[in-house]
Order: sequence, then structure tokens, then C-alpha cells
Amino acid sequence: MQNIIVVSQKPSDLGELIAIARRLGEPLILAFQESAVSINEITGYGHKVYRLNSDRPEALYYAIKSLYDSLKPKLIIGPTTKNVKDALSLFAGLYDIPLATDVSSIEDRGDEVIYKRGFLSERVIMTASVRKPAILLVKPKIVSPAEKIGKSDVIDLEVTAGDVKLLERKPKVLSGIKLEDADIVVGVGRGFKSREDLKLALELANLLGGQVGGTRPIAADYKWLPEDAWIGISGKRIAPKLYIAIGISGAPQHMSGVSDSKIIVAINKDKSAPIFKLSDYGIVNDLYKVLPILISRLKARASQK
Ligand SMILES: Cc1cc2nc3c(=O)[nH]c(=O)nc-3n(C[C@H](O)[C@H](O)[C@H](O)COP(=O)(O)OP(=O)(O)OC[C@H]3O[C@@H](n4cnc5c(N)ncnc54)[C@H](O)[C@@H]3O)c2cc1C
Repeated sequence: MQNIIVVSQKPSDLGELIAIARRLGEPLILAFQESAVSINEITGYGHKVYRLNSDRPEALYYAIKSLYDSLKPKLIIGPTTKNVKDALSLFAGLYDIPLATDVSSIEDRGDEVIYKRGFLSERVIMTASVRKPAILLVKPKIVSPAEKIGKSDVIDLEVTAGDVKLLERKPKVLSGIKLEDADIVVGVGRGFKSREDLKLALELANLLGGQVGGTRPIAADYKWLPEDAWIGISGKRIAPKLYIAIGISGAPQHMSGVSDSKIIVAINKDKSAPIFKLSDYGIVNDLYKVLPILISRLKARASQK
């Protein structure tokens, strides 16, 4: 059976990655970052675990290089996250190994693999083949997590992180918002004229039992929301049951973060805004007119209960 290295960054990623890898060969887990710390959570899959005592992408690069040289895996599978992409793209470049990100399905065909990947907010699905060995970084939630089937051996990997010296570490100030876990997300964009006005979106989200997230300009440029509320290609990818996009134009970089939502509702005053082509329901109107009506209807309904 062919060796498959599974790079695990968070224990919550691992079950799905193992499920994919078990269909293709014998998974060997490289536990990095949060997974290396929560080792007890990840040893129940019955596959050998290599623990990397570091959370730095440079260290992951050296670890993958040393495992690759000794184990000669045919596939390396991991999550499409910033640190894993950083480390594995450097490795792929130096070893001339093909790498694909945001992969949504993998099929083994002997010397090559066929994979699928979405583009333009999943409006186009590409099917491609690559020769092995290959690196495939997958999207979350494409398969059900694997079952735990036994205890694993844990081997500690000692790697140095090359010439990069860590000089300082400062924790990011995060709000603890868990947009990924919310069933309902209210997304806010530049249609809001001020930070103060976001209270309309917060009130709507409260009444619906949801969370508020936003586009890059709102979270990263204006800093009206914390960074962990930033949705999109360079922020969070979410998959709520309902996404309500308010004053958001529907740029591909934003929509790729919400394309797995079950239902998308857009509120935008411009009827030609691209978001309407990507939504299940749309309200063409000024958010400052629509939101007070929605909020008062929801309040009236709540008071009748
Ligand atoms: C490399 C790169 C990475 C990026 N990553 C991300 C990312 O991860 N996430 C992200 O979101 N963006 C990202 N962007 C930015 C992205 O391209 C868009 O610029 C951004 O998503 C637009 O944000 P917006 O919809 O809030 O603003 P705009 O595009 O300005 O849209 C505002 C919308 O509000 C509507 N509007 C205005 N007033 C009202 C009103 N009163 N009532 C109703 N509607 C109103 C307008 O009609 C308009 O459609 C990235 C860009 C690049 C180049």
C-alpha cells in the first residue's frame, strides 16, 4: 500500500483528512501546530503519528522534507490553510512536485491522481490530473470524518527551523467569534456608512441567533470588526445554513468564503450588483430602509411567542 503523509494542523481537521487518505493508501500523520499539542486527541486513528515540536511554517517545511526523503510517499494531503500552504509550496517548488489547493475530490489512477477544484466562487469546477508524487491541500467539509480505530505510535521529530530566528511573538487580539460554527451569519460590507451603523446588523444577528462577519474592507481596512470576523479568500471560509449579505457587492474574493452556505440572501441597493447572481434571494433596496423593517418584524414575532 502506498504511504500517504497527512499534515494535520488542528485536531478538528484530522478526521476528514484521514477519511480521504484511507481511501488512497496508508496514512502517516505529521502533527503540526495545534495537533502537536493536542496529541491525545489525534492518536486514536491507529496510524503512526510524527509529532513536530514547533508551530512555525519553516519547521513544517524541514519536517516534510525529512519525511519525504525517508518514506517516499506518493501523496501528501493537508488542509488549505495559510501555514500549510506556505510550507508545502516552498517544498513543492524545490522538489518539483505538483501542488493543488482547495481540492474538493481526489481519485487515484495509479501513476496519477485526478482532482477537482472550484474557481470563481465555485461557479466553475475544474477537473485536472497530476502525476505522483503530488501534494493536495483540501477544502474542509468535503467528506465525513474517519472513525477512530485504535491507538497510534507517536514519534517525535527534531527539526531546526533553518536560518530564520524568531525574535518576538505577540498574540493577535481576537474576539473569539466562531463564524465557522454559526448556523446563521449576517455579513456586512461597505454599504454601511459608519461603524456605528453596524449595530443594525448586530441587532438582526441577535434576533436570528446568528453572528456578524464582514468583507475585507470592513474588517481589515476600516477595522470596524475584529480580524476573525473577516470572511473570504484571505479571511474565513464559512458554511452556514443562512448567509445574509448586506451592502456587499459580491466580489469573488469575498464570495469564495461563503459559497458553501446553504442559502444566501443579499440586500443591496444596486440591482446590477454581482451578489444577486450568486444569491438564492435578493432584496434590491437601501439597507437603511430594509433593516429597520426586518428588525421590527422579528421583534414583533418574538414578542408574540
Ligand atoms: C488578493 C485579494 C484578496 C482579497 N481578499 C478578500 C477577502 O478575503 N474578503 C473580502 O471580503 N474581500 C477580499 N478582497 C477584496 C474584494 O476584492 C472586494 O474589494 C471586497 O470584497 C468588497 O467589499 P464590499 O462588498 O464590502 O465593498 P464594495 O465592493 O464597495 O460593495 C459595497 C456594496 O454596497 C452596496 N451599497 C452601498 N450603499 C448601500 C445601501 N445604503 N444599501 C444597500 N446596499 C448598499 C453597493 O451597491 C455595493 O454593491 C480581496 C482582494 C484582493 C485583491
